[in-house]
Amino acid sequence: MGLVNSSLNFFLPMLPRNFIRPFAMRYVAGENEGDALGIVHELNQLGFSATLDILGEHSRSIEEAKMITESYIRLFEVIADSSLDCNISIKLTHLGLGYNDKLAEDNLFALLETAEKTGNFLRIDMENTPFTDTTLSLYEKCKSKYAGVGPVLQAYLRRSETDLKRLISHNLNVRICKGIYLEPEELAFHDRKEIRESYIKLVQTGLSEGAYIGIATHDIYLIDTLETWIENQAIPKERYEFQVLYGVPMGNRMEQLLEDGHKVRYYIPFGDQWYAYAIRRFKENPNIASYIVRNFFRK
Ligand SMILES: Cc1cc2nc3c(=O)[nH]c(=O)nc-3n(C[C@H](O)[C@H](O)[C@H](O)COP(=O)(O)OP(=O)(O)OC[C@H]3O[C@@H](n4cnc5c(N)ncnc54)[C@H](O)[C@@H]3O)c2cc1C
Repeated sequence: MGLVNSSLNFFLPMLPRNFIRPFAMRYVAGENEGDALGIVHELNQLGFSATLDILGEHSRSIEEAKMITESYIRLFEVIADSSLDCNISIKLTHLGLGYNDKLAEDNLFALLETAEKTGNFLRIDMENTPFTDTTLSLYEKCKSKYAGVGPVLQAYLRRSETDLKRLISHNLNVRICKGIYLEPEELAFHDRKEIRESYIKLVQTGLSEGAYIGIATHDIYLIDTLETWIENQAIPKERYEFQVLYGVPMGNRMEQLLEDGHKVRYYIPFGDQWYAYAIRRFKENPNIASYIVRNFFRK
């Protein structure tokens, strides 16, 4: 199976964009703002919340990082004008981190100014470990000035428990996810069971100590375990939400969570960088990947 997966990972990036496009669009809300806002509106009508992300990372010029920041500022304004239940998720390297850290910080503060003006919230996605320290310290710096901002902690990182304990306070709003990047064993758990245990511990610690938790996972075992724990502990509904990526098949589990009174948010990426994003998603789900590669070679 490992060999099959690595062969698929090898073939996928060679497939033409036009071939990947129909599959990609299952995970991406389209290339432009209008497409994405249309999907947010539809999800809101069904009772779901949303968070929008403009695809891309690692900006390599001042102009690019500024242009992305301005696009996000416009997005906050349109969300407010249309009264959508939707916040924004960004990657700091997209705002310039790693290229020019001061630029990224200025862009982040400009975004937070608009988030505050429009009464909205900004989630700072977590990237790979070269950026963990700078991301968390930038978060801490802006949190002292702005309320509407929250970080992400990755359950696979051995350090996350310590990070959570440092960041925790009654107004911490943190997303917990497993973590998507390849990290070495000395920094990250690789064992599925250990990652799940870490995930549960982080969510339970955060909730027990008064933080707001975004429970971001498609792992039904985690969703079920945490839902039961939350109900047994009588954690108020205003203290957490479940989060999933747009397009990942979840049966009707999300609708069930809504029916049971939980808040559910879809993470919705959009933009012209859809190709790289889709390839990442396909690598995570070899069933889809093998389907694509098989169809391609059958033609
Ligand atoms: C809302 C949200 C925000 C996230 N933000 C970040 C972030 O800031 N930083 C970061 O490092 N990671 C982020 N992630 C990704 C996360 O870290 C995991 O890599 C990803 O969610 C897969 O882990 P899982 O918990 O869903 O469990 P898994 O055990 O990986 O998946 C459970 C099931 O869902 C299926 N599945 C999972 N993901 C996909 C997919 N993309 N496509 C198709 N099927 C899938 C799997 O096949 C499996 O059957 C985020 C995830 C979500 C849901």
